[in-house]
Amino acid sequence: MIAAMETDDGGARTHDGGPVGGGGHVGDAGALALAVAEARAGRAEGGIPIGAALVVDGEVLAVGRNRRVQDGSAIRHGETDCLENAGRLPARVYARATMVTTLSPCDMCTGAILLYNIPRVVIGENRTFYGGEDLLRARGVEVVVVDDAGCAAMMREFIAEEPGLWNEDIGEQD
Ligand SMILES: [Zn+2]
Repeated sequence: MIAAMETDDGGARTHDGGPVGGGGHVGDAGALALAVAEARAGRAEGGIPIGAALVVDGEVLAVGRNRRVQDGSAIRHGETDCLENAGRLPARVYARATMVTTLSPCDMCTGAILLYNIPRVVIGENRTFYGGEDLLRARGVEVVVVDDAGCAAMMREFIAEEPGLWNEDIGEQD
């Protein structure tokens, strides 16, 4: 994990307030790689391996990961943690943003994307969970499904190991 540090460079933020690092512009693949790194870091912490990155004009504003276990949080999913880490942004910034996430967004995260009028979503995979993609498309959001084998394998492994924890995260009863 990147250590917390003071930064005034306007760079991307992690949960600890530190910069994402690297700098420069990223494409969808680069942003998804950052989201995957967040997911893997979360799993290493005993958490649920879902990560996200918020990208505006090729710049990563923030990354995030599911923190249900780590923070005892009901609402910090990959996407919502990422939005929170990005902080309070004006509507015109969200209007140019892409939300990149390792897994198809759940109803809560779909709602957050719609609330802030984020026009584009890149999804690592939707084989292990199919979230609100149809609603996103119906509301005019561009949805790109990468169908990344590594993302799917990561979730399959997690669901096999922690079925109860997974059901809790998606609001299913055991
Ligand atoms: Zn979610």
